Amino acid sequence: MQIKFFGVRGSIPVPATSLHIKEKLKQAEINIRSEKNTESQQSEYFPFISTHTFGGNTSSVYCQINDTHFCLDGGTGIRECGNYLLGCGSLQTHPVHIILSHTHWDHIQGIPFFVPIYFPGNKIIFHSCCPDIRKRLENQQLFEYFPVPFSSFGADVEVRQCNDTEKYEINGVKLSFNKLFHPGDSWACRLDFNGKSIVYTGDSEYNEKDSRQVANAIEFFRGADILIMDTMFSAEESWTKLDWGHSSANVCIDIGNRAEARKLIMFHYSPAYSDEMIYEQFIKAREYCAMVSRKNKMEIEAAWEGLEINL
Ligand SMILES: [Zn+2]
Ligand SMILES: [Zn+2]
Repeated sequence: MQIKFFGVRGSIPVPATSLHIKEKLKQAEINIRSEKNTESQQSEYFPFISTHTFGGNTSSVYCQINDTHFCLDGGTGIRECGNYLLGCGSLQTHPVHIILSHTHWDHIQGIPFFVPIYFPGNKIIFHSCCPDIRKRLENQQLFEYFPVPFSSFGADVEVRQCNDTEKYEINGVKLSFNKLFHPGDSWACRLDFNGKSIVYTGDSEYNEKDSRQVANAIEFFRGADILIMDTMFSAEESWTKLDWGHSSANVCIDIGNRAEARKLIMFHYSPAYSDEMIYEQFIKAREYCAMVSRKNKMEIEAAWEGLEINL
């Protein structure tokens, strides 16, 4: 299993500005000039935030499992994912399966710019539990909003209406869904293959007011090797945004621990958060996880555009 992140933001794309780049160069220069600049200390003195960015594209994660292409959500990151897939050269024989958690803009607005969908001979299959998923995708491409209708792509496009009571199988990969709390609903998906598992939650809040839904989510996440979760807000901000349908890393750590997941990936960052703020959330999340975990500590990682994980 190979996982690659192409879009990690929530709500709206946040492109880097020249001011951001200038600040990073300034910080890198300070690091270079610092007295401790031996090679062995380089990683310490080139922290992620002064040389990287978490990225500004909205939700898009690519998974290759058993030679099968899966795209989890179709936010603006799926445009670059499409370019990557064109380079793979196997699309004529291997369909692309696009799984949509829900149809808020930040999870679908990259689809009209997913270039493989324009090429005859390619097969693109959408899967989602959202009711009327085909109609929703067609509506995004009504002529008033986009010049190419959803029905006019060059590729063979199929839309599969899924539901969370069934289990599906695609080339030996088991696919299942679980409904989570989010305004308008959102569905986590789980991919299982050869004893390994990935769960992608999409947008979600875990509110103990609905303890049954939280318990169902924990069962659905049970034992996941990779758990990609909506950690949009800091712990402090999440208390002011109850019922907005998003979570903090701390809540996700509690849920992930109860589900005995192996690795939690922080994802779907607030567009208001700078790289520095996300990095701070990541450090705090690791500290919180170390504090609350008694045994078999779950690993914490923060997603960034370009991050690759092999499982
Ligand atoms: Zn979202
Ligand atoms: Zn949403």
